[in-house]
Amino acid sequence: KLRVLSGIQPSGKLTLGNYIGAIKNFVELQNDYDSFFMVVDLHAITVPQEPAALREQSESVAALFIAAGLDPAQAAIFMQSHVPAHAELGWLLTTLSYMGELERMTQYKDKSEGKDAIGAGLLVYPSLMAADILLYNSNLVPVGDDQKQHLELTRDLAGRFNYRYGDTFVVPEPLIPKVGARIMSLDDGTKKMSKSSPNVGSYIALLDSPEDIRKKISRAKTDLGREIIFDVQNKPEVSNLMTIFAQCSGQTIEQVQAAYDGQGYGAFKKDLAEVVVQALEPLQKKYSEIRSSGEIQQILRDGAERANAVAQSTLIKAKEAMGFLPQV
Ligand code: ATP
Ligand code: MG
Repeated sequence: KLRVLSGIQPSGKLTLGNYIGAIKNFVELQNDYDSFFMVVDLHAITVPQEPAALREQSESVAALFIAAGLDPAQAAIFMQSHVPAHAELGWLLTTLSYMGELERMTQYKDKSEGKDAIGAGLLVYPSLMAADILLYNSNLVPVGDDQKQHLELTRDLAGRFNYRYGDTFVVPEPLIPKVGARIMSLDDGTKKMSKSSPNVGSYIALLDSPEDIRKKISRAKTDLGREIIFDVQNKPEVSNLMTIFAQCSGQTIEQVQAAYDGQGYGAFKKDLAEVVVQALEPLQKKYSEIRSSGEIQQILRDGAERANAVAQSTLIKAKEAMGFLPQV
């Protein structure tokens, strides 16, 4: 079986962007691939996190994985920090990374913009991400469009390592969905929706109440004009809402456009809110059941055990290839 791996940061409340761009696809892949899905807490601390919030969000993300349909009997679900090989290979790959290529990353530029003290972790984030992926000899990495650049760097680092030290890592392929790979922010059609945004109105959280979802969608920015037409260049905001509609209702964009031909934004937004509320209802119900059952701990323990077995063996190979004296 080919292997799939991906991760989500516990850096806030998961959004519809995380669901459509990533988690939804994890669920579809788990039957056909040997699957590893993790909560990347070591990545989350590249920006400041309150310890209590980090703890709560970490458990929440793991529970949302399961609520969204990941099956712990198939996929290994685990915390990145429970598998020490990530931090260790992350360091090894940091030493293979060039400042220039790291500084060129859009995520680094976006997240460091306007800050006077920039954490070094933000810069080396992609080296750690490369370690996450390469430790499992992952063939496929399902991510949203914003992570494409990091995947390219991962491929470069794998190639660089293999060239210098001999064939060690599998060079992975990104898997980016055709529709919904970049859900945009509700208040600005040029920015991606992000869970760490300080403006809660810019995203729909998977655990938002129906009232909040209705309010956020009714306030969502719309383009000039009144037609419901999918045109990313000229109508980015309406096109984004149409993508969300299509993804939450299981329709194609063409079907959505045909259904709202001749109707205005008001009617469309009203229906969109109900479509989103309904799509999230089963997930929210399952989420509360899982949180109150207390089964997350056992799932994470089991996931970490499976992950550690694979990761540790790759790490040992990589260290030997680099010339570290083996421990006997
Ligand atoms: P943060 O603001 O803390 O970076 P985030 O919302 O970008 O949070 P991440 O944990 O960085 O979420 O990313 C998790 C996964 O979700 C990645 O595969 C990423 O590509 C995907 N993703 C994030 N935002 C979007 C979006 N707006 N549309 C589609 N996919 C997204
Ligand atoms: Mg992100």
